[in-house]
Amino acid sequence: MNYLLLTNDVETHSIYYNTLRDETGYKVYKQAIPYLLDLYEKNNIKSTFFITGYIAQLYPGVVKMIADNGHEVACHGLTHEVEKAFDTLSLEDQISHLKEAKKILEDISNQEVISFRAPALRVNKDTPRALEEAGFKIDSSISPQRLDFFFSFGSIEKIKRLISPRKIYFTSNENLARRGNSKIIELPVSSFSLPFVGSLMRYNNLLFRILKSFLVIEAKYFGTAINYYMHPTEFIDEYSKEKMKVNRRSKSFLKYIFADIVRRKMKLKNLGAPAKLLYKQFILDINNNGFETVTIKEYCKIKGFL
Ligand SMILES: [Zn+2]
Repeated sequence: MNYLLLTNDVETHSIYYNTLRDETGYKVYKQAIPYLLDLYEKNNIKSTFFITGYIAQLYPGVVKMIADNGHEVACHGLTHEVEKAFDTLSLEDQISHLKEAKKILEDISNQEVISFRAPALRVNKDTPRALEEAGFKIDSSISPQRLDFFFSFGSIEKIKRLISPRKIYFTSNENLARRGNSKIIELPVSSFSLPFVGSLMRYNNLLFRILKSFLVIEAKYFGTAINYYMHPTEFIDEYSKEKMKVNRRSKSFLKYIFADIVRRKMKLKNLGAPAKLLYKQFILDINNNGFETVTIKEYCKIKGFL
């Protein structure tokens, strides 16, 4: 059997405004999540939702809806603030952020929360230990063979991922991107140079489909799971006629140009209704390829890791 993991990162980051906004979180709650849950129900899909503690506290209904529909509630950190990314936090702070977010999500969902994806996929040498200490079992923050250059934050740390495994594995105690003896299971995010994510699907659908064909062949011959992710905020269009200055998140000029200005321009393409259409097409197409769609937790059980 071939497996497709459709995962979603639930947060208040506005793609249009390039910043965190509670108003965007409200649209995620009222528009994007109901849309996704309906789409998944119609297509018999169980999905994993990585949710920040912040949006869970702001709109607990988001977590309730997801849990009530039988999907996996997973953790996307306590906050998505760039200054509090996991690779900038001490071991103690990583543990306390993880514990707090886990408690918030478990209290609302009545589910045990054991899966984690770091905001912006930023982790460091302390993250495997922090995850173990906070009671997590699964990580999905490693994107093997993905080339980021200046387009994302924490790209130096991400260079380690150029040789990380493509199939499910137990991580080392110091590095989520390597096999080892820790108790943490890594479920790599599908990528090959380019990441297999919603923004590629919207920005260049041809490249996305080429990458998908490659991943389908890899899955069939090597038994790799396809692990795709997108953000519910991609189904929201916040376009406004007012001219705006792009919010600067980094002091470095290069980072500002690539990770803020250029990246934002790319990410604005096909937001909202066109994104819904592209996602539907992708789901139809993958169904025709005979893939089973399960949650990350379920996949780990099927593979005997949990
Ligand atoms: Zn995120």
